[in-house]
Amino acid sequence: MSKQLILALSKGRILDETLPLLAEAGITPAEDLGASRKLLFDTNLPDVKLVVIRATDVPTYVQLGAADVGVAGKDVLLEHGAEGLYEPLDLEIAGCKLMTAGVSGAEPAHARRRVATKFVNVAKRYYAEQGIQAEVIKLYGAMELAPLMNLADEIVDIVDTGNTLRANGMEPRELIAPITTRLVVNKAAMTMKHERLKPLIARLREAVEGRRSEAPA
Ligand code: AMP
Repeated sequence: MSKQLILALSKGRILDETLPLLAEAGITPAEDLGASRKLLFDTNLPDVKLVVIRATDVPTYVQLGAADVGVAGKDVLLEHGAEGLYEPLDLEIAGCKLMTAGVSGAEPAHARRRVATKFVNVAKRYYAEQGIQAEVIKLYGAMELAPLMNLADEIVDIVDTGNTLRANGMEPRELIAPITTRLVVNKAAMTMKHERLKPLIARLREAVEGRRSEAPA
């Protein structure tokens, strides 16, 4: 196993919050990530490289060892499963909630509830635990549209402010899990590259704790 460290970062809103935290831990990209179509980047440290990929691909890269370390939302990790991954640190960024939601004011109508989501595994597990019969329908985006179009009775999705739901005549129902962004590490790398990973995780932990103590109570 090479001594190089590959970090897989989730594109999009998580990335904007991850980069300042990485900088506090002493890692900065060698160029502006947004300014190019490149996916693999050098950093200020000769042995650390970054890949910037879709959030849902991060656990796969890390589980299979193509990346040593990943930054991914707990929502994505719950859906992917924990096999081959350690989750040593909650980065406490990009907080939101994984929830069920339905049309405002409507009772869940069907005995066998139709649920649209991209979180198929999470949804199946959740409804089974609740003892509710559910037909889970996989969608790749715009979940809020499904109840309006009578494709589904309910959705399982990420809720932050709730504005997206409200704008589509929907309301949040049950909380499935509070979500924050996590650091994940390939299990084999954790052993083989422990000397290199330990200080990185420690510096990130200090950065997270430093922010927590600065945050207003
Ligand atoms: P909101 O309208 O503020 O409730 O935001 C809801 C939408 O923003 C959802 O459909 C999500 O796709 C997205 N979203 C909000 N927060 C996050 C987050 N922390 N991580 C990923 N997606 C998010």
